[in-house]
Amino acid sequence: MKIKLIPVFIILLAVLSGCYSEEISETPIWEADAFEHWQNGENGEKLNIGEHEPGAGYICTVCKNKVFNWGDRITVTSFDEYQSPIRATVYGTDGTVLSERTYEYGYDKDGYYTYSKTFENGKLVLEYEYAVTEDGFGYPKKETAYYEDCVFVNEYDENTTPAKFTEYDLAGEIISETEFEYSENSSGNLYCSKETVINYSNSTKTVTEHDETLNIHQIETFSLEGDAPTLISVENHEYEYDGLGRPVYYKETINGEISCEDFIAYSDENSYDGYYDKKIIYNEDRSYTVFDYDESGNLFSETEYSVSENGTVFLSEETTYNGDGSTSVIKRDESGEITFESYKEIFTTGEGALYLGKTTEIYHFTGIKQVHEYNSFGDMISSKSYNFGDELLSTYDYAYEYGKNNLVVYKKELFNGKLSGEFFYEIVPTTEESNFENRLVKTISYEEDGSKFVWEYDENEILIKETHYDAKGNIIG
Ligand SMILES: [Zn+2]
Repeated sequence: MKIKLIPVFIILLAVLSGCYSEEISETPIWEADAFEHWQNGENGEKLNIGEHEPGAGYICTVCKNKVFNWGDRITVTSFDEYQSPIRATVYGTDGTVLSERTYEYGYDKDGYYTYSKTFENGKLVLEYEYAVTEDGFGYPKKETAYYEDCVFVNEYDENTTPAKFTEYDLAGEIISETEFEYSENSSGNLYCSKETVINYSNSTKTVTEHDETLNIHQIETFSLEGDAPTLISVENHEYEYDGLGRPVYYKETINGEISCEDFIAYSDENSYDGYYDKKIIYNEDRSYTVFDYDESGNLFSETEYSVSENGTVFLSEETTYNGDGSTSVIKRDESGEITFESYKEIFTTGEGALYLGKTTEIYHFTGIKQVHEYNSFGDMISSKSYNFGDELLSTYDYAYEYGKNNLVVYKKELFNGKLSGEFFYEIVPTTEESNFENRLVKTISYEEDGSKFVWEYDENEILIKETHYDAKGNIIG
């Protein structure tokens, strides 16, 4: 083969070139379909019809097409005199054409590609322009990919590293332009040290700088609205590494103000498998939140610091997550006094499933504690209020009957042990197929004076009828 290429390009072309035969096809040209080859006579008649005779590399020894049967489809590929594929047709197993890809190439006097084009069912989808380095290696200089709604152009330098990426809309207007710059690292290898993106849709330019490890260390954003670019923001990323070169600390600042800190730990001293030990997110008003993680990388506490009216930063809220899903939240005011506590407790069913069984909320301003208990269906079974001295103020108890899909069909409410309400539901299919929901149809409210109200609802759960009965069951309204 005459084409001499540098390694990266060889990989690229390996896909295209496949295998080739020693001979160039004779005239008249052999035509082929999935199963047969033939030559066209002067009057269009098929001459020398024969089945493909696959030889080395699936190349038919007669027509020189590569014929490969994938089981569910057959591809027939023909090549030019440089053994580059010029047509690849995909046939169904019955011989019908499913798709066809064709290729077009330009060659220089030395047999190097000058360009190549790929057509999918006749439509240009990919185009390459090639150049030759001073050392005589061919390389792709420009790659153009045509999509339904945009065109991507990648330009490469002599090292075949991307130099520029441009995105166009179908009208040919540039949507964005990205330029890549390279530097040499301490081992003398090139790395992408700077990436400049001009985004024409929002008139901004971002310049991203990478360090040797390709971690970002700075992002500058400019507005291109005025005559000259104006710097909008500067984001800096700082890393600290341990002796093994593992990142252990990361800090992010925006316009000089700290915005984030990460502390990274490793499961053992040789492992590169890191996890967040701690993460701190800082807000512009100087408030911040500290996230602490356990050795499995699970969040176990979240501590919020707020800014008071007089500008002091104070611990305002602590949330603790336990492994089973239970949580506690404690809120404080700027003097450190607890203002609110909330606890969620997880219970286990007989089958071992976990569910939220109990919540406790303590409001220190009003001195009220509320305790709610739930069953494993997630329905509240009791709600108790206590005062400061843990004295029970009121109790609501609930009992349920369940129907299809464990939906509630009946609910009974007792206030301080006395029947106070009944709720009747019907189960109806939802608009989504095979789904059901329950709909309130009737409620009965039992009053202190022995009378009761019966409320009835329509299909939108809108009250349509109210009946008031006295203690003896006579309708009074
Ligand atoms: Zn053949």
